[in-house]
Amino acid sequence: MDGKKIRTRFAPSPTGFMHLGNLRTALYTYLIAKKNNGDFILRIEDTDRERYVDGAVNVIYNSLKQCGLNWDEGPDIGGNYGPYIQSERMDIYREHASKLIKNAKAYYCFCGKDRMDAIHEEQKSKGLTPFYDRHCRNLSDNEVKQKLSSGTPYVIRQKIPTEGRTIFHDEIYGDITVQNSELDDQILIKSDGMPTYNFANVIDDHTMEITHVVRGNEYLSSAPKYNLLYESFGWEAPVYIHVEQIMRDAAHKLSKRDGDAYFDDFIKQGYLIPAILNYIALLGWAPKGENEIFNLDELKKEFDISGISKSPAIFDPIKMRAINGMYIRALSLEEFISRAKPYVRLACKREDIDYKILCAALQPRTELLTDIPSQVDFIDELPEYETSLFENKKMKTDTENSREILRQLLPMLETLDNYQKNILHDNLMAFVEKSGLKNGQVLFPLRVALSGKTMTPGGGVELCAIIGKDETVRRIKIAIKKLA
Ligand code: GLU
Repeated sequence: MDGKKIRTRFAPSPTGFMHLGNLRTALYTYLIAKKNNGDFILRIEDTDRERYVDGAVNVIYNSLKQCGLNWDEGPDIGGNYGPYIQSERMDIYREHASKLIKNAKAYYCFCGKDRMDAIHEEQKSKGLTPFYDRHCRNLSDNEVKQKLSSGTPYVIRQKIPTEGRTIFHDEIYGDITVQNSELDDQILIKSDGMPTYNFANVIDDHTMEITHVVRGNEYLSSAPKYNLLYESFGWEAPVYIHVEQIMRDAAHKLSKRDGDAYFDDFIKQGYLIPAILNYIALLGWAPKGENEIFNLDELKKEFDISGISKSPAIFDPIKMRAINGMYIRALSLEEFISRAKPYVRLACKREDIDYKILCAALQPRTELLTDIPSQVDFIDELPEYETSLFENKKMKTDTENSREILRQLLPMLETLDNYQKNILHDNLMAFVEKSGLKNGQVLFPLRVALSGKTMTPGGGVELCAIIGKDETVRRIKIAIKKLA
């Protein structure tokens, strides 16, 4: 492989939404290419027509583009190794299958469904795993010719050696050895003329000069057969990197039923794309140092195959959230405002609020954009609340002193005309100083009175600025009345 240009491919089947595990495969595949100035290729594996879902190819394009995983060759942009959609490569597969038949590495099999069902039934009754009994493996040339010319339906099967063993190497799992006698004469071309996934994959990876194959370890058991195919053609196999699946917990895969297995689910939940990529990069790969926060450009430098793990990657929503929080905090205030605004608007319809002040207060408290609506739901209307909220040991407040403080604050806030944050700040601080009380003893009751909550984005000063003079005065009066 030395000296060859690195070429990797992401080869999704268009079966629906983008699962996080697939996106992680795409990411690793992309990173291996880009770290080495190589090419990242997108190939659509659509030969399984039963699993094909309309629109799924666009989901693949859009998800990859949104993530910045831009491909150098692919169905939409072409390249020197096309076509990049398997259903458009039928001639290539047939031609290669014929070559194998000619070299006695594959054979026609005319066993119909009835015969196959019967032998599988029999094997099952004996407790054996179904395998093909190689009935057609040694048909004479004449028999084959006759059946072909009479139009008998057929499949093409791989002629697996009956003796010896196959060793294949995986970068993560090392050398894996299997006895050839345990391998089934797998189908390469189905009766409808379509190649099987295992066959098309090998032909495509070779003809597209792919050097590194990253895929889920559910394909590990098929890898010896791929190797035998490479050998049959006299080709060099690519470097295999089988990655562990993403698990919900030790026993369960992260699946559709969890409601958050797909890229789109996370976008809907308010995750930022760089945070999603950062987190999934860590699901199965460990960076060399302590730092775990990498954007895509940094990942291109840091990522290394040797850091890919062999143990199952357990999805940790709390960690993913925390990483997202870091990315949110790193946004400029302007960027945060533009992303946060639609979420603020879900719970707050008032047009006249100062988004800058609100968002500056929200940004450090937001891990997910979807955390925002419940934090701003007091702005339009004061929620119902209990007076016990004013009791706070740490702030040294109770219902009685809160009432007194609010009563004293009211005239100042009623006469103040300029509700700009800095002016409010100076006036409230002057009030605190004059009263000889602690900041919290004044600002905590003010916060509760203005929001009906003990935790809010920003404190008393910001809340006055956000809801404005009229609401501030009205809500303080309500609190004084409640506390009477
Ligand atoms: N088409 C396969 C899938 O979507 C890809 C497997 C591979 O990368 O070899 O799972």
